[in-house]
Amino acid sequence: MRTPLVAANWKMNGSKTFAERFFSDLNLEALASEVVVCPPFPYLSLVAQGVEDKSALSLGAQNLSQESSGAFTGEVSADMLLDWNVRYVIVGHSERRSLYAETSELVAKKYVAAQEAGLIPILCVGESLEEREQERTLDVIAAQLKAVSDIIEGDAWKHSVVAYEPVWAIGTGKTATPEEAQSVHRFIRAELGEAGAEVQILYGGSVKSANASALFAQADIDGALVGGASLDAKEFAAICRAA
Ligand code: PGA
Repeated sequence: MRTPLVAANWKMNGSKTFAERFFSDLNLEALASEVVVCPPFPYLSLVAQGVEDKSALSLGAQNLSQESSGAFTGEVSADMLLDWNVRYVIVGHSERRSLYAETSELVAKKYVAAQEAGLIPILCVGESLEEREQERTLDVIAAQLKAVSDIIEGDAWKHSVVAYEPVWAIGTGKTATPEEAQSVHRFIRAELGEAGAEVQILYGGSVKSANASALFAQADIDGALVGGASLDAKEFAAICRAA
């Protein structure tokens, strides 16, 4: 019912040469899942070229401005992303929240800007290690989701993707066990209400080909948001095939 989706988040990695080579190394033949590649902004046009050549692929961005245009030096708007045929945009990644002080309120505005322009937001939620140890995981995630649904009239979750990324699992080599992840995914789906059955909920945090199948076997895990392992085209393709 839900198409599996695997998204590559290159973060601030790569180069022109890397982006060109990535697509010649990426073999996605006979793939049942949808694949999204989110490069840094300067490489969107290069990746757009790679994406045009591969029908199962979509283009994604890692961030956007909540504003539509104007004197906002360094920012990129939703319409600019659409100009490059971007279809998805990550909002609220934990690195944006922690390193760039993006609050849940700001993340919600970005989510709205994306949706209103016709982009599909990939909303990242997840708890820190401290929050998990204090058994506050579900409260933290509920609040992150509520910040979005609070400012949207009608169904906030139509045309969206949610990524559960426990902060302690990002780039650390530690993953939530498939069962731990599944229980949070089930919770998130219930929080999404009516649209929940259709929303793809991705897991993120040290996903690699060796742990992908066990994660994807869980009922509410519909794919992955992949950081480090997405920088190796062969490894990334193996994760995509596992979905
Ligand atoms: P990781 O990053 O796969 O390197 O842990 C995931 C993410 O931050 O989206």
